[in-house]
Amino acid sequence: ASTLVWFRQDLRLADNPALDAALASEHIIPIYIVPPEGSDEGRDGFLRGGASRWWLHHSLTALDRDLRARGSRLIVRRGEPTEVLAQLAAESDATAVHWNRRLEPAGIATDRAVKQSLREQGLPVQSFAGNYLHEPWNVLNKQGAPYKVFTPYWKALLAEGIDLPVLPDPEPLPAVDEAIAGESIDSLGLLPGLDWADGFADWWAPGEAGAWDRFESFLDDVSRYHETRNRLDLDGTSRLSPHLHFGEISPRQVVARVRSEYPDALDDKGTEHFLREVGWREFGANLLYHFPQTETDNLDARFDHLPWRNDPDHIVAWQRGQTGIPVIDAAMRALWATGWMHNRARMIVASFLTKNCLVDWRIGADWFMDTLVDADLPSNTAGWQWVAGTGADAAPYFRIFNPVLQGEKFDPDGAFIRRWVPELAELPDKALFAPWEAKPDTLARAGVSLGETYPEPIVDLKTSRERALEAFQRIKDYE
Ligand code: FAD
Repeated sequence: ASTLVWFRQDLRLADNPALDAALASEHIIPIYIVPPEGSDEGRDGFLRGGASRWWLHHSLTALDRDLRARGSRLIVRRGEPTEVLAQLAAESDATAVHWNRRLEPAGIATDRAVKQSLREQGLPVQSFAGNYLHEPWNVLNKQGAPYKVFTPYWKALLAEGIDLPVLPDPEPLPAVDEAIAGESIDSLGLLPGLDWADGFADWWAPGEAGAWDRFESFLDDVSRYHETRNRLDLDGTSRLSPHLHFGEISPRQVVARVRSEYPDALDDKGTEHFLREVGWREFGANLLYHFPQTETDNLDARFDHLPWRNDPDHIVAWQRGQTGIPVIDAAMRALWATGWMHNRARMIVASFLTKNCLVDWRIGADWFMDTLVDADLPSNTAGWQWVAGTGADAAPYFRIFNPVLQGEKFDPDGAFIRRWVPELAELPDKALFAPWEAKPDTLARAGVSLGETYPEPIVDLKTSRERALEAFQRIKDYE
């Protein structure tokens, strides 16, 4: 008898409940399914963006390599999951299908459809919890309702317990019958035609081994995380987000490893703060699960009345890192070059877009989904709705980040700006964060000519701030 193990957002071998439960069967067939364009399974962040596709290509390659090292291999096929699984089951005399659940709206829709169809065909299926510490239907308040605010949610999560058993790496695995064919990963065409992702490889090592290398090196610094996490110029965060998104490492493993290294992790500032961020990932999934409409709709419906301007010139300038506001441009160019952006930078650029430019958060969220290697529908939606003030536990709309002050505070020596906006590198610190306020000879000495070598700001920070506040005043009284 054989079991199909359908890999989805869990591209790892260790702590993989679907795989672990299949170990009892004589044969295991690991399968990855590339769904057709527009199908539910591909909608949420997997095949949606170019950066995600780049990551997926390399992560599948790593998974196949890891499976081969254990005597198995990855079968890759294209098509609707139900049909592909039924076909493969028939070819391989499979008697069961296993997978780890996805929790985004479209992932849930696929889960349901596949389950129902395969069961009707007499094929036992079993799904498992693999991607989060606790699934959203298990963390509710006393009234049985979902949490909308992070702090009580986090307390409830801790009360449920975050020290969870971690499953071992299965070694070795049974071989997959020669007769079972799949497509090559290269033939999937996941890599972008343009060379824009070429630089990603300097930053990232997709796959389970890469995730652990990254995590282990971060663990040396985690006790200082509370001090370094907001600094744009330092490598102060884990950069585990794409690895977690693709399930190359599980949050259970992350917590367990931190706790084994730092037994007092929940009492020490650095480690506690880091674990709490992992809690934000859970919180995002909790929000999107319980409020699936927030994928596209404002959770706070008053914002349906906000007069977004959506000026195409502003949108393009923001996307290209040509807004004339150095910290914004540095962050947007870093995103383009590396597929990742620092959390503080995400907040600054999102606030600038939605408030100073009055661009609908959904336009910014779409750009992020396309360009981030960690593009993750729950975290991204929660992040944008939080910054825009339209979400659950949201920053109040009137709290508008001042990108100049944010830059001065979180990039104190200007190293982040100088790195990504090299045309400003020669400016003295005083002029770097707001070059439009600098004296002409200061600019000239640094070889900067506004409007020529670097743009004039696309909006005036003060008047655009006031405009945003007025727009908000107008929607405040809507119910
Ligand atoms: P660390 O600081 O090392 O944190 C560890 C892990 O905790 C992260 O890998 C991540 O999984 C989780 N985490 C940390 N902060 C958050 C948070 N605020 N919300 C949810 N999870 C968090 N994160 C994504 O993974 N994908 C996205 O598409 C995404 N879009 C965002 C959009 C906006 C506008 C904002 C403000 C935030 C967004 N985030 C997103 C959350 C956060 O910015 C990233 O998770 C974080 O920057 C990843 O870097 P890191 O791995 O070094 O994080």
